[in-house]
Amino acid sequence: MTKRAVIIGAGIAGLAAAYRLQLEGLRSPEELEIYLLEERAAAGGKVRTIHHEAGTLEEGPGSFLTPGPALKELISISGVELIQASDEAARRFLCHERSLHELSPNPWKLFKTGLLTASAIFRIIAESWVGKRRSDHGNRPTDGWGDESVEAFLTRRFGPKAARLFATPMVSGVFAGDPRKLSLKACFPKIAAMEAEHGSLIKAMRSRRQAGAPLPLLQAPKAGMQSLPDALIERAPFKVRLSTSVTQLSIAGNSWKLKLRGQDALDADAIVIATPCASASELLREISPAASLALSKVSSPHLAVVNLIYAEDEAQRVPLGFGALHTADSGTDLLGVLHESHIFPQRRSDGCLHLRVMLGGATRPDLGGLSDEALLQAVVRDLQTIHGLKASPTATHITRWNQSIPQYQLGHSRLLEDMSQALEASKTPPIALAGNYLRGVSLSDTAAAGFEGADSIIQQLKG
Ligand SMILES: Cc1cc2nc3c(=O)[nH]c(=O)nc-3n(C[C@H](O)[C@H](O)[C@H](O)COP(=O)(O)OP(=O)(O)OC[C@H]3O[C@@H](n4cnc5c(N)ncnc54)[C@H](O)[C@@H]3O)c2cc1C
Repeated sequence: MTKRAVIIGAGIAGLAAAYRLQLEGLRSPEELEIYLLEERAAAGGKVRTIHHEAGTLEEGPGSFLTPGPALKELISISGVELIQASDEAARRFLCHERSLHELSPNPWKLFKTGLLTASAIFRIIAESWVGKRRSDHGNRPTDGWGDESVEAFLTRRFGPKAARLFATPMVSGVFAGDPRKLSLKACFPKIAAMEAEHGSLIKAMRSRRQAGAPLPLLQAPKAGMQSLPDALIERAPFKVRLSTSVTQLSIAGNSWKLKLRGQDALDADAIVIATPCASASELLREISPAASLALSKVSSPHLAVVNLIYAEDEAQRVPLGFGALHTADSGTDLLGVLHESHIFPQRRSDGCLHLRVMLGGATRPDLGGLSDEALLQAVVRDLQTIHGLKASPTATHITRWNQSIPQYQLGHSRLLEDMSQALEASKTPPIALAGNYLRGVSLSDTAAAGFEGADSIIQQLKG
């Protein structure tokens, strides 16, 4: 008899789960009918591109590093053409006390920047001799599961001055988070593994270089990020229902009943919840209160993304490069500035300068309360200060993400463990979760979580 699997949410995680179920599932459409439901009128979730008269503007992610296997498979299925970031995008800057400093992976070059005292730089170089962390106790923030905050980790390995300088930029670019609260192990498992394996990050990086490990490539679909989910929907071999919101889940015997807003309910033998964490928590409330409670503890702060276009005459004021991350002492309201027209110059033939600014996040919730006008004023003022931009932008666009990126705070792994155990104890029909709160927030990790969710459903259906 045909089984029906329903995936709730058509972000990258949901799309990945749907394709994986289709490709690896019961291998016959007669055996498995797949529905992908999405409450918005378009798929992609956080992946959103506006084709504005001023150019291609990204509201969410703007690129990805060399894709992992799951994202690579989705890209290949979609047929979208990718572009590579320019060589100039390898240049990265730090904004500290209202001025820009070019970064180099070589710690000796820090002497030239004047960002740190000589003793603080020697403390960085001495990282090779700092032993591995032995105890989970002491006065560092720890949850008893061997968890350590990003800031505590950097302080331990590189000293307090370097930690103060680099902790905020390190977490802003990926999580828009607070380094005092985020878990190093959950947010940056590869860095934790580098310490565990080599005893030092400097030694681990040296060993990678000696092994000739390739540097990750920064890429994006030529037609904008949204072209990826759009193409996946266009080619979907499964049933897609956009503008379809699941409002409640219940169990009837061995199957699921999905209540839909303004539409007839849908039955399913298996479900994948591929929504943001807060919606997953809502949907699980009656099914598994304990799993729902665990997920409700994962916060996602407000984040504003401001796209700005400046006329060609202003372009030379901004140094060629990927952009700048802002330190805790940047003296600005900004988390970071991406030089979009430098990263992907293929997208701009008019010579204009396209900047994309992020502000808000876990450390500046107050900015979420600003009006669009006040937000824009703050951004334009800070860009004037940093770059000496004289003219006003010719076009701007503000996007507000009320729930932007899940914060993997201290104890995140334990929360996920509690959630899994509670869900298993609820003895529901087949269910899996997929999303960016599970194994990483990047598009690659999110797609991988979608594949894992699908694999779990296949196991449960076969079992
Ligand atoms: C501003 C910003 C910049 C970023 N930059 C990058 C970057 O440069 N590179 C990178 O790799 N990653 C980046 N990320 C992270 C990445 O974009 C996200 O982690 C990823 O897209 C999340 O995918 P998802 O499928 O888990 O969730 P979402 O994309 O949030 O998708 C979930 C979907 O579920 C739907 N949904 C919710 N509830 C229901 C319901 N009840 N019924 C039906 N549908 C429902 C939603 O409408 C949504 O479409 C960025 C994120 C943000 C916010």
